[in-house]
Amino acid sequence: MKARIDEDGDTMSEPMAEIVDLPSAEERARAVRPRYGERALIVCDNLVKIYKIADLEVVALQGLDLLVESGEFIALVGASGSGKSTLLNILGGLDVPTAGRALVAGRDLGEMGSREQTRYLRHIIGFVWQQTSRNLLPYLTAEENVALPMVLDGVSARDRAAFARELLDQVGLADRAAHRPEAMSGGEQQRVAIAVALANRPEVLLADEPTGELDTATAHQIFDLFRRINQDRGVTIVIATHDPLVSEQVDRTVAIRDGRVSSEVLRHRTLSAAGDHHVVATEYAVLDRAGRLQLPRAHVEALGLERRVRLELEDDHIGVWPDRPGPERDGHDRQDGEAAT
Ligand code: ADP
Ligand code: MG
Repeated sequence: MKARIDEDGDTMSEPMAEIVDLPSAEERARAVRPRYGERALIVCDNLVKIYKIADLEVVALQGLDLLVESGEFIALVGASGSGKSTLLNILGGLDVPTAGRALVAGRDLGEMGSREQTRYLRHIIGFVWQQTSRNLLPYLTAEENVALPMVLDGVSARDRAAFARELLDQVGLADRAAHRPEAMSGGEQQRVAIAVALANRPEVLLADEPTGELDTATAHQIFDLFRRINQDRGVTIVIATHDPLVSEQVDRTVAIRDGRVSSEVLRHRTLSAAGDHHVVATEYAVLDRAGRLQLPRAHVEALGLERRVRLELEDDHIGVWPDRPGPERDGHDRQDGEAAT
């Protein structure tokens, strides 16, 4: 069987008639219990987002599939422009997909009315942005910033203050409750922002480049804090970042390339007989519903793979070989080319 490789290193099965119709992300979510059964909190199925500016169309997401289990802590990594923010904005209910489905906590984000959307934003989602100025109101103290989402929710003043203090304590800023953002460092402001995002007790915490304006040491502390919050509060966390530091903290790193999930790295903690903790990271390529597989760029370059590769099915794996022009093959290709002229 032949497979073609396009410019991005995607392997495309050919001919079209051989494309297997794999189950949808939802069907898979049901099928692979218990890992993604009732615990699948976020399901993106063939998600497409196209931005139109005048005559120009930008395809920001092109058939993205993603499943996130309740309680997971994952990172979306990828180069600038790969579609991370677009995906987070859709998951956060701030934008709608052009095609495909996004389900979060049982809600279909493409079909929410405006009242449902408001409820979704207030109760299901917490958001942390890169710019601290977008997260905090400058004229309110840290405690007032954290209490604000609860004001909108009608929580009593006493309960607001108590929970705001609990959250500030959790992010390590109990002694800064009365400070305004301007009196705090960038890292401290992001800690307050995380407390604000938790104030409505969300099921999902989304963070878009939360360490983008911080130095490496502070970024480490912020990722550390996210991990602790994930463990202590059980909130599902999705962080978009191009900071490679993050992969040491999360359970799963999902790499996005050109608006699609290209690979995933899963990290498992194991305990040796001697009692040492080891972290084992395994990289997986992602198979989509049409049977498409994106080969890592390094693999493509190492073997000089181009345009198409030869596949061979073995008992327990598939071999992928470059399509080198041997004498026989060369003649065959030339014939094809000449026939067209
Ligand atoms: P990332 O967050 O990974 O850097 P984005 O999701 O911001 O990527 O962008 C993905 C692609 O969509 C880019 O090509 C970007 O230029 C484009 N894009 C993002 N937002 C808009 C928008 N509001 N209007 C037009 N194009 C956009
Ligand atoms: Mg972005």
